[in-house]
Amino acid sequence: MLILTWIVAVLFGAIALAYANATGIAWTVAVAAALGVAWGAQLLPTWLALALTVLFVLLAIPLNVVTLRRKLMSDAILAVFRKILPPMSQTEREAIEAGTVWWDGDLFSGKPDWKKLLAVRRPTLSDEEQRFLDVETQELCELITDWETTHVHRDLPPHVWQYIKDKGFLGMGIAKEYGGLGFSGYAHSQVMTKLSTRSGAIAVSVMVPNSLGPGELLAHYGTDLQKRHYLPRLAKGLEIPCFALTNPTAGSDAASIPDYGIVCWGEHEGKRVLGLKVTWDKRYITLGPVATLLGLAFRAFDPDHLAGDKDDVGITCALIPASHPGVDLGRRHIPLSAVFQNGPTWGKDVFIPMDWVIGGQPMLGRGWRMLMECLAAGRGISLPSSATGMAKLAVRATGGYARVRTQFKTPIGKFEGIEEALTRMGGNLYLMDAARALTAAAVDLGEKPAVISAIAKLHLTERGRQVVNDAMDIVGGKGICMGQSNFLGAAYMQLPVAITVEGANILTRSLIVFGQGAIRCHPYVLNEMKATREADRAKASIDFDAALFGHIRFAIANMARTLVMGITGSHFVSVPASVAPETRRYYQQLTRFSSALAFLSDISMGMLGGALKRKEKLSARLGDILSFLYLCSATLKRYEDEGQQKADAPLMHWAIWDAMFKAQIAFEGVLSNFPNRFVAAVMRRLVFPLGRPYVVPSDKLGHDVAKLMLEPSATRDRLVAGSFVSAADDDPVALIERALIATLASEPVEAKIRAAIKEARLDAKLPPGAGIDQLVARAQAAGIVSAPEGQAVIAARDLCARVIRVDDFPQDLGTSGMRPSDYSKAGIVTQAVPSIVHKVAA
Ligand SMILES: Cc1cc2nc3c(=O)[nH]c(=O)nc-3n(C[C@H](O)[C@H](O)[C@H](O)COP(=O)(O)OP(=O)(O)OC[C@H]3O[C@@H](n4cnc5c(N)ncnc54)[C@H](O)[C@@H]3O)c2cc1C
Repeated sequence: MLILTWIVAVLFGAIALAYANATGIAWTVAVAAALGVAWGAQLLPTWLALALTVLFVLLAIPLNVVTLRRKLMSDAILAVFRKILPPMSQTEREAIEAGTVWWDGDLFSGKPDWKKLLAVRRPTLSDEEQRFLDVETQELCELITDWETTHVHRDLPPHVWQYIKDKGFLGMGIAKEYGGLGFSGYAHSQVMTKLSTRSGAIAVSVMVPNSLGPGELLAHYGTDLQKRHYLPRLAKGLEIPCFALTNPTAGSDAASIPDYGIVCWGEHEGKRVLGLKVTWDKRYITLGPVATLLGLAFRAFDPDHLAGDKDDVGITCALIPASHPGVDLGRRHIPLSAVFQNGPTWGKDVFIPMDWVIGGQPMLGRGWRMLMECLAAGRGISLPSSATGMAKLAVRATGGYARVRTQFKTPIGKFEGIEEALTRMGGNLYLMDAARALTAAAVDLGEKPAVISAIAKLHLTERGRQVVNDAMDIVGGKGICMGQSNFLGAAYMQLPVAITVEGANILTRSLIVFGQGAIRCHPYVLNEMKATREADRAKASIDFDAALFGHIRFAIANMARTLVMGITGSHFVSVPASVAPETRRYYQQLTRFSSALAFLSDISMGMLGGALKRKEKLSARLGDILSFLYLCSATLKRYEDEGQQKADAPLMHWAIWDAMFKAQIAFEGVLSNFPNRFVAAVMRRLVFPLGRPYVVPSDKLGHDVAKLMLEPSATRDRLVAGSFVSAADDDPVALIERALIATLASEPVEAKIRAAIKEARLDAKLPPGAGIDQLVARAQAAGIVSAPEGQAVIAARDLCARVIRVDDFPQDLGTSGMRPSDYSKAGIVTQAVPSIVHKVAA
């Protein structure tokens, strides 16, 4: 019995020490004490006690004496690592090291510090930024419709281009000292979101100069002269920039661009200067066809060593005026129906002076690092905001549409099938907007969140696509027939652009999120890798030893934490007292999942090593878990930031349950497909010792979410906050909003009419072709409804009839002799036959 107690105590003691990530000394003291008890109470046979004691001494001495440990253990492991680790190219290293680690580091630690997240200040706008959103951005949205852009002008109309330039939209991120607006990342995000609720073409045209491109690169790396010359011109729209990286043979694998520049002497403005002879062939370049300033990425070579001692200098970024001889720009691609300016550019042996390299000669070959560092901030803002904007448009308009469109005498939004899609739309949007705001807040804190920006780009564009797809299914033919009254078709067609650019989503999911996350967010892996490549042997030995043994303790701690939290359901995990009681369990479960992710990642990296990079399905799932943890954190943060709005709770609950369930599926995917089946079985017991805690969000919860989108409320306002609604009478979204209010107002009156018909107080038999107006007249005459009530019913029906209309055009779609302006006029809505439209629903 005593021996059993001792074994149990040793087991619990070991788990407790591991859980607490105890130091080596603490382990040594604890094991010595346990052996002391065993000897003292003669619990073990002498031979066994002796063997254990010898083993303890043999391990404890080298493990606790660091110099000995290095000599006997870490140096040998380091030597093996040096042999087996594949060499890392400079571009690979720069990509991995770019940017900063923020909340993603906590999520990867197995022990997120929730107080740290909750302490992040909720992003807000300055008065000036708010004014810009309310006045200039509002006015820009009023100036244009997506239909006019895409089908009439096939470009932004000239007056809109001018407005964008004059009001500083192209220089939102440029500092005030250079004439820009000097806006925060959050303000930029708000503007992008609002523009995207109106027109994809405007959003993209404004997005590009404010994202990764000449402005951003100059601000960080430009010489003083370059900044003083170009930044004020870019801020005022006197230059239209583009940035050309993609080559026909190098898309996702952009670091392999074959475009090149040879360092040489040449003539520039009558002087002999050092420069580069550049040859390039680029495609897909946004704003390229109208650009006046070409930002160009190419690989620089210096065969004559005129600028240094390297032959292959590396990727380099330069700014070339579009008017420079040899620069070819101007032709266009047609990026789906979005019609923003996008096209190829090429040039052969074009001489440029060294001064045109961004940052000048010292920045030759530093282009990839520049791009990777600047990508982090822009990628976290522009595309997530535009996807969120499109989702807001879809939710607002489709929610209203589903309430006013009736089939089978019922608003379609009340059918369970439609409700399911509406639920996904609402829940996804709540989460998307939360992640958008949190990511912008990180950028405004000065972070360059490499992994988080990849997560935001990937998941918000992906969910944006799901929201718009759901919306398309709900509105049916109305979403398919193009024309001025279609509020959704353009977003549906344009979303794949966001999926593809700035790291296509499959690549980002399969390679970047976990590939970069595991190295950057892990507290020890990057240090281990750096030590492996360290030339100074003594330093390498010290650094590697510290990282390796830290890593081992970290892995053991997460294994113990995963098991203990799995068995206890994580109920005892401490949570900041200030959080809403209804969210406490989520914080606890997220901590549990964070620990399980850290544990699984260590085992996967340890067992698969470099092969994990090729096992994309596994690393994508591990990346999904990290992503869902981030998205859930953002959702909980939003709930707190917005004052724990109980009315919004269904949205928050649905978003968390959905994401946690999906995280659980991702865990399951890793465990089911892990190559070593024995290890997989052990991991499964540790991660889910009592089964899986999450199921799909309930239908009841889904019903509560869908309801929120069918009627105006403060919750619906918060959900679609920051979106644009036109004041124009015939704007399809504005029309839906009016129809929704009118329908809700008329329903009690219609109920009175229906009751009267049922009780035979009103004769509902009308002659063929008669409409609701005649029935209303009868009801009025019978004293069942008042005149204003009758008017409310007719007005509501009238608005609903306008909402469901679609556009029609001449048979040849205007090809025979019609000018674009006629073509647009031809797209007027059909005058539906009133008697049919107004048919009595009762
Ligand atoms: C409308 C538009 C605007 C653009 N604007 C610009 C611009 O202004 N400047 C600029 O330089 N470029 C621009 N691009 C280029 C854009 O960045 C590339 O399209 C993108 O990098 C993908 O390259 P690709 O289209 O050649 O696809 P590919 O590289 O051929 O990829 C095809 C598919 O393979 C997947 N894939 C590739 N490698 C892997 C991998 N290792 N693992 C898993 N999946 C993988 C990708 O995810 C993708 O799904 C633009 C593109 C478009 C369409």
